[in-house]
Amino acid sequence: MIIYKTAEQIELMRQSAQLVSRTLGEIAKIIGPGVTGLEIDKLAETYIRDHGGKPGFLGMYDFPNTLCISPNAQVVHGIPSKKPFENGDIVSVDCGVLMNGYYGDHAYTFEIGDVKPEVKQLLKVTKECLYIGIAETKAGNRISDIGFAIQQHAEKHGYGVVRELVGHGLGKDMHEDPQVPNYGKRGWGKKIQNGLTIAIEPMINMGTEKINQLKDGWTILTADGLPSAHFEHDVAVVDGKPVILSTFDYIEEALASR
Ligand code: MG
Ligand code: MG
Repeated sequence: MIIYKTAEQIELMRQSAQLVSRTLGEIAKIIGPGVTGLEIDKLAETYIRDHGGKPGFLGMYDFPNTLCISPNAQVVHGIPSKKPFENGDIVSVDCGVLMNGYYGDHAYTFEIGDVKPEVKQLLKVTKECLYIGIAETKAGNRISDIGFAIQQHAEKHGYGVVRELVGHGLGKDMHEDPQVPNYGKRGWGKKIQNGLTIAIEPMINMGTEKINQLKDGWTILTADGLPSAHFEHDVAVVDGKPVILSTFDYIEEALASR
């Protein structure tokens, strides 16, 4: 059952989303070659707690950390490690926060040093997929219109769209109805209406859409070992239109001033 939110609830969700955004902005100041996942995980946990939130992922389904950190061929749900990032890596950093009873949940894929042009292109197209999906999140459309648009754009570039993992409703729970796949046909699923709050999160692979899971029970990686990118925003429908509750501005400002 979809839980539609009031304007007051959407404002609380915006605050939670913004704390995730600012946390990712702090990470953007330091992430680079030689930095480890465990270092940025610690930074994120401290920053979230210092600003009135709780890490949203820590302990959820027994996940051991604040961040999901998924380099290169890892798609999502990677566990932070002490292995330093290397020049040329890409790293998806996914962060959740619980504050004032509501979750924020979003993700950005960072470039580490000099990244190959074809990998940069994967990141660019995946971010475009996110905003194309958001543009479809409007009254009159149905949920599957989001995934349809994302899939069209990704496949036009020859990329694989992960099927097994999807976006989701967001609110007092991290995962609410509806599921928001990144693929599909037009015109299926619930009609989009005011008060819908969802996390849209294309996971786009350079090669095959097929994935595997590591024995750690968490890490998802591409079946062919090629890179995968992941960007996620929190979106509410207000006056029939999508409003992005999270922002990449803090990240992009930090990256631009380095
Ligand atoms: Mg997420
Ligand atoms: Mg999510």
